[in-house]
Amino acid sequence: MSVRSVSGVSLLRLTEGKTSAPSVRSRKRIKVSIFRWILPNSRMPALSEIVRYADETLRLTEIEDYPNALNGLQIENSGEVTRIGAAVDGSGATIALAAARGIDLLVVHHGLFWPGLRAISGAFYRALKLAFEKNLALYSVHLPLDLHPRLGNNALLAAALGFEKTEPFLELKGQPAGLVTETTLRRDELIDRLEKSLGGAVRCIGTGPMETKRIGIVTGAAGEDIYAAAREGIDTYITGEGPHWAAVAAEELGINLFLAGHYATETFGVKALAAELSERFGVPWEFLDHPTGL
Ligand SMILES: [Zn+2]
Repeated sequence: MSVRSVSGVSLLRLTEGKTSAPSVRSRKRIKVSIFRWILPNSRMPALSEIVRYADETLRLTEIEDYPNALNGLQIENSGEVTRIGAAVDGSGATIALAAARGIDLLVVHHGLFWPGLRAISGAFYRALKLAFEKNLALYSVHLPLDLHPRLGNNALLAAALGFEKTEPFLELKGQPAGLVTETTLRRDELIDRLEKSLGGAVRCIGTGPMETKRIGIVTGAAGEDIYAAAREGIDTYITGEGPHWAAVAAEELGINLFLAGHYATETFGVKALAAELSERFGVPWEFLDHPTGL
């Protein structure tokens, strides 16, 4: 019998005696908090509970993605989580950072399988070996995290830029991939806000109006979607990175193109997700910053 079930019964009785008419949910919450106070660290959250919560919150089964995203749990551990790490990319480098910090669940936006099928050899072998040795689980979530209205990269970048009213924008795989806002803003003011929000230089191809009216945002690598974005009537397009021809297209279309960094625009979601898991399951979290330079 587990400690949890023994204490659970007695603490529930204790809780019932002290409260007037708590709902089943609030009773459960009070029970868990009292339980943690009496027996700190006596029960670490199970990996399976955290994964179930993240899968449901981010609607993993409903949102289409590229097959290589392989959303969800990519590496399992022995089943308990004591410390969460968040990183944009799952890689040998971030696995090593996580292992050194005593993290046992690493949450990433780009998982381990973007290059496709590959042999478990060389650096990839060493990364997986280290994860297994250090009991490190890895959870990856791509488009469902970009799109999420509360935890998503797009929503949080829009909020950081001060855009209060946004609507879904630019269909990708049958769902909106970004957000659009009707905001009048001088172009240099937008550059300033982007650089402050992202903590670094932003590239502006200023071939549109000096003052914005309709701004589209798609975090990550969506420069190649510039024609589709322009069809939705924007005069300014913010994304992370794009091909060289996207700058030529921006001039042809008469729109401003902001390339704000693939990595930089995708730090928001993993941080928000890790913070929410930390709060809900009572384990600490930290961001593992490992920029790609793109
Ligand atoms: Zn990305």
